[in-house]
Amino acid sequence: MRIVLLCLFVICYSAAYSQSNDASAIKQIYSEELSRGKSYSMLEYLTTTIGARLSGSPGAAAAVEWGRHELDNFTDSVFLQPVMVPHWIRGQKEVGRVINSKKRGVVEMNVCALGMSVGTGPSGVTGSIVEVKSFDELKQLGEKNVKGKIVFFNRPMDPSKFNTFEAYGGAVEQRALGPSEAAKYGATGVIVRSMGLNQEDYPHTGGLRYTVNIAKLPAIAISTKHADLLSKILKEEKDIQFYFETHCETLPDAPSYNVVAEIKGSEFPNEIIVVGGHLDSWDLAQGAHDDGAGCVQSMEVLRLFKVIGYKPKRTIRVVLFMNEENGLRGGLEYARQAELKKEKHIAAVESDDGGFTPRGFTMTATEAVRTKIKSWKPLLEPYGLYSFDNEGGGADIGPLQAQGVPIIGFLPDSQRYFDYHHTQEDTIDKVSKRELELGAASMASLIYLIDQYGL
Ligand SMILES: [Zn+2]
Repeated sequence: MRIVLLCLFVICYSAAYSQSNDASAIKQIYSEELSRGKSYSMLEYLTTTIGARLSGSPGAAAAVEWGRHELDNFTDSVFLQPVMVPHWIRGQKEVGRVINSKKRGVVEMNVCALGMSVGTGPSGVTGSIVEVKSFDELKQLGEKNVKGKIVFFNRPMDPSKFNTFEAYGGAVEQRALGPSEAAKYGATGVIVRSMGLNQEDYPHTGGLRYTVNIAKLPAIAISTKHADLLSKILKEEKDIQFYFETHCETLPDAPSYNVVAEIKGSEFPNEIIVVGGHLDSWDLAQGAHDDGAGCVQSMEVLRLFKVIGYKPKRTIRVVLFMNEENGLRGGLEYARQAELKKEKHIAAVESDDGGFTPRGFTMTATEAVRTKIKSWKPLLEPYGLYSFDNEGGGADIGPLQAQGVPIIGFLPDSQRYFDYHHTQEDTIDKVSKRELELGAASMASLIYLIDQYGL
């Protein structure tokens, strides 16, 4: 009996002891980041000195060199993992206008080519417009109403959804698949309402995916304000003509890299915890929230461990993935190499939902893993991390799922993300230094706990 009591005492004591150890380690992580964090200054350099970094561009190449150089300062080793990426270029500024409104004359519209679209070339596309809200509606109209016309997909993101990513998920098929859907009925071009909840002047770009063996139509995004205006004009006058001109093209694939850096684990060096974001951005943006924020927050995890003197038991690896926006080649190559080398990843964490106030983490993992992570909630809740129930992860780490790796996404507040997403407005001035740092500290704290206890 006495032995049992003694054992119980030892177990309780050591659990309490490690809990308070964990609490003080997490406190140290937060105070270091909030007092002397480097995430914002790193992001400032990446977004303003380097700027836009679409795959295959000089900006992307400069970002790779920057990432390698920065990570070299606070990791054991850095290497570049080669990957061939799509090389799409926008070319000269796009044109979009209503050319014959009886009431308004020529009406200029704010448009931009969708990523990976074919261009119209200098002759442009002219035609009357068919406005639809869904693929079903398009199907109903059929070839006889669509052939030779420009299809205008104008279903807004659903503002009644609290989670803006859900609203995005409910509308984005128009951008991704709309051009090929419209081509099936003989359309000549496509206009897509920008993926945003606000009334805005600027268009949101983003990738489309052509279906194989279906004609590739040139496609543009139109600002939400002008989408509403165009819809209004169409209600007033049925026979207006729209003209648009884009000069984008896809060049041969270009060589690029994932930037990979790590601190070797002291006890279980073969167990890898990967944390990352994507280094590429759309060409119109500085890529501050998408996803410069995720890159610097991930880099900061390793720098924080170094400066607070924490030596991880497991190997912590940072990956700055290339080409999330228009191909996911970096994420796919990373997972392929991990499988080839038979690496054991115990968790993958990504930050790619913006540098906003932290709310928690999303997970795609077994029930046992979820339960274990949720058991750490008392340690994380004091820092505003309360949401651990949603499914999720990140595009770049997604391919690791096939190897049974638990996938975890950093979850910040989502309300402002789509005000900037894939636009010229995704700039450093939209990022709060404080919120960005809280995200970096949240990620470092979670990774500290995974490192301590495994998954
Ligand atoms: Zn992103």
